[in-house]
Amino acid sequence: MSKEKTLEDLFHDTLKDIYYAERKILKTLPKMKRAAESEELKSAFEKHHDETEGQIERLVKVFELIGKAPRGKTCDAIEGIIAEGEEIIDEFKGTSALDAGLISSAQAVEHYEMTRYGTLKRWATELGYKEAADLLGQTLDEESKTDSALTKLAIASANARAKKAA
Ligand code: FE
Ligand code: FE
Ligand code: FE
Repeated sequence: MSKEKTLEDLFHDTLKDIYYAERKILKTLPKMKRAAESEELKSAFEKHHDETEGQIERLVKVFELIGKAPRGKTCDAIEGIIAEGEEIIDEFKGTSALDAGLISSAQAVEHYEMTRYGTLKRWATELGYKEAADLLGQTLDEESKTDSALTKLAIASANARAKKAA
């Protein structure tokens, strides 16, 4: 028989998942920036790289608030999403469709993060971790704004450029 587990365990486990994912994303964003063709997309990736550093600090604070050491647990989902992004870079490098592809890859990352932070924020509230819920909510808002900014870039330029031949 396995030991009983609770919402508290799920919260801690999922926190380790997103902590792993954020650190992986921090390493990947400079590669996305280097790959991007347009200056706007490069600066969007750079801005989010800086935000991601702050998001990792918030997670460290949340671990502290629940009395646990900050530790990651391999997130297969983010590994897969990032591997797909790398495929896009390989297969669309040098073409007019690259930025539209990079935006779609980045949005897959933001959406994964939004599911994680949405759940974690709700669980933190239910577990009575008010300050943690607030920190997780701040990051959720940043991920959601990043997603919207990427949509705007796609509509304003990247998709139109992708429709034309290089
Ligand atoms: Fe993030
Ligand atoms: Fe995961
Ligand atoms: Fe993000």
